[in-house]
Amino acid sequence: MDYYDYYGGWREKTFSCLCGWDEAGGEAEAGEMFDELGERCCTKCGERVFMLNWPTATQVEVAAFAGNEEATRQLVDVGQRQTRMARAAREDLISVDQLPDVDAEDIRASLDVESESEHNPEMCLFLNGTIVHREPAWYEGIEPLVRMLPILQEKYGERLHSISIGQGASLYLLGSALQLAHLPSRVGRPKRAQWRKPLSQAALGFDWST
Ligand SMILES: [Zn+2]
Repeated sequence: MDYYDYYGGWREKTFSCLCGWDEAGGEAEAGEMFDELGERCCTKCGERVFMLNWPTATQVEVAAFAGNEEATRQLVDVGQRQTRMARAAREDLISVDQLPDVDAEDIRASLDVESESEHNPEMCLFLNGTIVHREPAWYEGIEPLVRMLPILQEKYGERLHSISIGQGASLYLLGSALQLAHLPSRVGRPKRAQWRKPLSQAALGFDWST
């Protein structure tokens, strides 16, 4: 099995499949995606014909600097994602000190995603209907819920009655699992820069246009 660098001319090269089909790499179908690379498969029989290494952020920058148009577009995703990562490092809920005192006997928490601008969806924590915290929302990962729950428990103890997950938050927390279940969502598809995974998948791993 051959491995190709993302900016390495695989689109023009002709690949031969065991089934007898020949085609240019650029025509091959995207197969399974991994963090660092992805499969490209025969469009006739589905067999894997080569592997594609996703570019690192540095490779995107180098290629963009050399004039590669695709890399120049990807650079926008890379930049947006780095900005969001920096914001998350400052704003993520990591301590009880970030939560307000609440008088109510019964505290009902809920999570939902608000997108004032499509590039900056935020995971919002509500207590009894009032927003008390917001941080960058990332597509596909229940980490925020797993991180926040013990902090809520520590702060409010037995007064924490429940936590409900809104539809937008469900999409971000569950990602493709929710989409594969064909459950409707009022939230649009997340932008690539909102993937917390390595750049590979953030920038390239999923073709949202299809
Ligand atoms: Zn084939």
